[in-house]
Amino acid sequence: MKTAIITGISGQDGPYLAKLLLENGYKVIGTVRSYRCANTKSLEYLGIENDVLIEEVDLLDLTNVIRIIKKYNPDEIYNLAAQSSVGLSFEQPIGTFSFNTTSVNNLLECLRVFSPDTRLYQASSSEMYGRVKNMPINIETPMHPISPYGISKMSSYFMISTYRESYDIFASNGVLFNHESYLRSDNFFIKKVIRSALEIKNKKIKNLRLGNLDVKRDFGFAPKYVEAMWKILQADTPDDFIICSGKSIQLRDIVEFVFDRMNLDRNLIIEDEKLFRPNEIEEIYGDNSKAKNILGWEYDMSFFDILDILIEEEKNSKVIRSFK
Ligand code: NAP
Repeated sequence: MKTAIITGISGQDGPYLAKLLLENGYKVIGTVRSYRCANTKSLEYLGIENDVLIEEVDLLDLTNVIRIIKKYNPDEIYNLAAQSSVGLSFEQPIGTFSFNTTSVNNLLECLRVFSPDTRLYQASSSEMYGRVKNMPINIETPMHPISPYGISKMSSYFMISTYRESYDIFASNGVLFNHESYLRSDNFFIKKVIRSALEIKNKKIKNLRLGNLDVKRDFGFAPKYVEAMWKILQADTPDDFIICSGKSIQLRDIVEFVFDRMNLDRNLIIEDEKLFRPNEIEEIYGDNSKAKNILGWEYDMSFFDILDILIEEEKNSKVIRSFK
């Protein structure tokens, strides 16, 4: 039986990845920053709350990281914990940069000294590319991040490749583009749009105020993207991979699709300049052919089909939502 540690188990991706690993016979340990405020409702939603061991770990404290790795001697670590909101990173730039880089440095140092055979997956992000000249983005595309979040992820991306090249550690980056699911937290765009549309339908709010809707993003489905994370650590050699759908969609098209599906008036969608970010990537989409060719990762979902899945899931999940 293989053992895997997932940091950031309380987020969107952690529970889907845990479910996949459990189905593949793994022992799964999920880390949270504090038992006291650990949100395990997402594990409950997937019916795996009794199958994942939860450990409190401060990833900023090297001795804590050493303790957990010595305790479980994991075959694989999936490092998903991060301050992951681009918008919030403008309000908390120092906290975002400190956590998102030091946590990775601690894991790498711990593996180098105590556990060189453990494989490490780092959750990197398309936000590292920022303002790019040529698309689709591939792993050779020069990076030009334009948010504190993007800069933090770029820094840890290069720490991963540096340790891999310097110390022969199996450390890989999965560079994931936006991916969504029912478990996305409320402050992210897609979740906010679907929930708010339902609230307008139920007459709880009157309209939906959003930031810049002209921007285009490459969106995918989280339960499929965690399969890529797992495949990255099963590869013969460590490497970096772009995980994306390969297409971009304008945010306006997404909101209008959701409103149309719920028979809501499009005039209730309000673009509010006060909600624009200080700096915004206009369009971004990637090239997933390396992951398809080397990892055999398959992906051909339409994001509008995913929106239909998410709308249905949101409509049918009133009981779970009331816990949150
Ligand atoms: P998420 O839902 O925001 O979850 C982030 C996790 O990190 C949560 O478990 C959170 O714990 C934990 N965390 C945040 N700040 C922390 C801190 N200071 N100390 C300890 N734990 C902390 O993110 P996700 O969507 O699952 O994404 C997983 C990873 O992939 C993240 O690293 C994200 O940056 C990266 N990524 C995501 C996307 C995407 O579209 N979802 C795209 C590219 C890359 P709490 O519950 O306690 O807050």
